[in-house]
Amino acid sequence: MSDELTEIALELRRHLAWQEADGTRLIWKDPNLAAPVVSARSAPAIAVVPKLETGPRRTLDEIRTELGDCKRCKLCGGRTQIVFGSGSPRAELMFVGEAPGADEDQQGMPFVGKAGQLLTKMIEAMKFTRDEVYICNVVKCRPPENRNPEPDEIAACEPFLKAQVASVRPKVLVTLGKFAAQALLKDQTAITRLRGQWREYEGIPLMPTFHPAYLLRVPAEKKLAWGDLQEVMKKLGRTP
Ligand code: SF4
Repeated sequence: MSDELTEIALELRRHLAWQEADGTRLIWKDPNLAAPVVSARSAPAIAVVPKLETGPRRTLDEIRTELGDCKRCKLCGGRTQIVFGSGSPRAELMFVGEAPGADEDQQGMPFVGKAGQLLTKMIEAMKFTRDEVYICNVVKCRPPENRNPEPDEIAACEPFLKAQVASVRPKVLVTLGKFAAQALLKDQTAITRLRGQWREYEGIPLMPTFHPAYLLRVPAEKKLAWGDLQEVMKKLGRTP
């Protein structure tokens, strides 16, 4: 299979996995069968999809139950626990980071280390509390030595992020750091150029900004990040 076809196949597989994770039953026509085939976990990962049946909006609890004791990618081997997400299931503002770190892996909550404390300050500066927003990561298990998640790990976990976004339906998404922005936007542009520019993810306005861990290392960039968050406040009708 050519590289281009392989990429198309991977994208289609990701799309199908998302549809299933989002509660959608897929029906496709197998040219060798008279009747349509309804998707199941054992079904082929790639198929022509002439018709979709969309299920009801799922709750975060239902999505977490579906995730279960997930072993869909190799990150399961090194985790202490899955870090699913925290906050309001009806948040108008949702933050997406990269992956759990050591503190998050231990406590089972996203953004609880030093970077998390800074994120809490950023949220409060925006006149929200942590309970009013929703926070999660692109992948739910800690990568070894805090390395970046790999493409197969993102592909395995992304359906659940998409399902979380579809469940919460925030008015605005904020990605934290290069990795989350590039993963959601499928855009390898540097975060220094992505940040501060409105984009869209699944029809929802998305503002990329710096990761709080980066801001701890380079405090001079906090001013730019605050400018990004002020744009988010304006979008949400709040006075910066
Ligand atoms: S990172 Fe996501 S897909 Fe991989 S094992 Fe953890 S929960 Fe499952």
